[in-house]
Amino acid sequence: MIKQFLTDVHWGDIDYLLVDTPPGTSDEHLSIVEYLQGYNPDGAILVTTPQAVSILDVQKELNFCRKVNLPILGVVENMSGYVCTHCAECTNIFSSGGGSKLCDKYNVDFLGSIPIDPSLALLLDSCSSTSTAAAIADGNQAAANPAAAAVPNLDRASAFLSKYQSSPLNTKFSAIAKYVDSNLTN
Ligand SMILES: [Zn+2]
Repeated sequence: MIKQFLTDVHWGDIDYLLVDTPPGTSDEHLSIVEYLQGYNPDGAILVTTPQAVSILDVQKELNFCRKVNLPILGVVENMSGYVCTHCAECTNIFSSGGGSKLCDKYNVDFLGSIPIDPSLALLLDSCSSTSTAAAIADGNQAAANPAAAAVPNLDRASAFLSKYQSSPLNTKFSAIAKYVDSNLTN
């Protein structure tokens, strides 16, 4: 299945291929590394949460990457605190700093911390709340003309993107993406 997905899809001329894998070091991870080997993958970004149990899992991932010679682009600490929707203060409901400590130990880059920010979910909802009636209309349109139905979806996506620009999470994600991109060798 993984082989089919990587080799039988017409990917065209793409800038990046991101493979989002579940946690673990299972057969799936092995297969992905094996099938991508011929394409010189840039490497892996590991995502942890601040809790010790997740840090332990990511430690296994780090060892796995080293064993299969997959470069490690860095570690992101996800769910790193909770951003209050009333005052925007970030509270560390779990512990914090586990990701950067792990990076020190393994001598890999710490890419940044991403908090739980309910405003992102609210933003997503706000861009799709107009759509119950529209979706029904889209459905009718889709039957008659599939191309026409794609337009309202694009409108919603661009509405989301323009609002997302001013979200504090955008600043965090952009900084991580820019840093990773500047370190890519391919
Ligand atoms: Zn508050």
